[in-house]
Amino acid sequence: MGSLSRLDHDVERYLRTGGERTLPAACPRCRAPDACIWWGRYWRALRTGTRSVRLPIRRVRCRVCHHAPGLRPAFLIARRLYARPLIAAAQALHARGLSAEGVAVAVSTEFVIAANLVRAWLTTPVRAEGP
Ligand SMILES: [Zn+2]
Repeated sequence: MGSLSRLDHDVERYLRTGGERTLPAACPRCRAPDACIWWGRYWRALRTGTRSVRLPIRRVRCRVCHHAPGLRPAFLIARRLYARPLIAAAQALHARGLSAEGVAVAVSTEFVIAANLVRAWLTTPVRAEGP
């Protein structure tokens, strides 16, 4: 679970800098170059396993297709409260033969994680996605 040790550091750095600072070179949806402008932010809850934080997610808007995606950090998965490295670690433990109950015990630290939640994580894509 090596990426887990880096997670809290990454989250701390993200909170210190206030989120993404660079506009995407092209619109994430229509690929129009230099078409994005800053478009506010929203707040998003995240649990890392050891802490619970609220993150500002900066939003951009495309001047061509008007899509307005949030620029999520790599450690955050859409519609998941828990961080990507934690879910990936749970999947790796399960792939090595640990039951969902066993994984739940193994990854529960500050927060008690239920086996049912682990089962939902097992089908969650954890590959890093574009913004
Ligand atoms: Zn666009």
